[in-house]
Amino acid sequence: MRVVVTGGAGFIGSAVVRHLVLVKGYEVLTVDKLTYAGTLSSLAALDNHPSHKFLKADICDRGAISRAFETFRPDRVMHLAAESHVDRSITGAADFVQTNVVGSFTMLECARDYWNTLAADARAAFRFLHVSTDEVYGSLGQEGLFTEATPYDPSSPYSASKAASDHLAKAWARTYGLPVVVSNCSNNYGPYHFPEKLIPLIILNALHGKPLPIYGTGHNIRDWLYVEDHARALDIIAERGAIGETYNVGGRNERSNIDVVHRICELMDAFRPDNAPHARLIQFVADRPGHDARYAIDATRLETELGWKAQETFDTGIEKTVRWYLDNAPWWKPLRDGYDGRRLGLPSSTQ
Ligand code: NAD
Repeated sequence: MRVVVTGGAGFIGSAVVRHLVLVKGYEVLTVDKLTYAGTLSSLAALDNHPSHKFLKADICDRGAISRAFETFRPDRVMHLAAESHVDRSITGAADFVQTNVVGSFTMLECARDYWNTLAADARAAFRFLHVSTDEVYGSLGQEGLFTEATPYDPSSPYSASKAASDHLAKAWARTYGLPVVVSNCSNNYGPYHFPEKLIPLIILNALHGKPLPIYGTGHNIRDWLYVEDHARALDIIAERGAIGETYNVGGRNERSNIDVVHRICELMDAFRPDNAPHARLIQFVADRPGHDARYAIDATRLETELGWKAQETFDTGIEKTVRWYLDNAPWWKPLRDGYDGRRLGLPSSTQ
């Protein structure tokens, strides 16, 4: 199995690439532009691995992507490259429209050109997995879950750009017959998460005795999934998902942001008792504009039709994650030193 993974130097993409190469034994070509959010240090476990290749390229570059397909000759494309940070989309949406919409369009067109050259059996086996977010569905009230039938209602420039790309992906399946499958996942957390995102930001600010900023009242709810559970889900969806269909991915782990921060503080109190209680560092800051109240995923279809189940609960996953950040300063330190949240006007992220 030969797989092109776009965005493979990012948070989720690197977990996917590690899973495909180290667990599944696949040949992988990672394609990534290495924006501020991408770093080859997230793929250090694959340094010099004979089954892994890396191409630095922009997904908007049709020539580069076409050449990559023609030379690597993938059986499958897993498209994760995106601008992914909601706060950045609010202060500057242009990169989100360019990469998430134009880049996804370019990926679909290059995949279609390549797929059209394949022999009949290879055409039938080929899959293009378009990886997306539950944020395309907008916000939930107190009750209910997002299903695959929930109408799209995105709130932020980020989620609107992802929604646009989902529609393109499905149109390429319906109009051109390209074997596309779409996945929409809830918030991920785990190792190699860029330090500007909520969970690593809180862990690292707690470690450094800095304020732990929380938007609004902290009662916004997210449905957290450990990143390695997502990587396994994506592999299963790409392998067995029905063409033209959507699969929601989520771990049934709803938590309010304030609860997440308190749980991290408890773990930090246990691991770094000298600085306890870390909860004294919590600071509430002005809410994000258009901040969705609640996301929660119904993953029944993925669980029953494709047999996937999350292996981590929030409690097991968050403990692993806090430990990982405490043990892996060489990975996050250069990223954290280079990231200037104040310049972007970002008090915190809650995705
Ligand atoms: P990330 O920001 O950590 O990684 C994105 C990667 O894409 C980076 O390596 C970056 O260098 C690369 N990239 C950006 N623009 C590019 C371009 N023009 N050409 C080539 N590469 C480019 O993002 P992530 O959190 O790993 O998210 C990956 C995908 O999963 C995204 O499509 C995102 O919408 C989706 N998703 C994320 C979450 C989440 O909680 N993080 C949840 C559901 C879905």
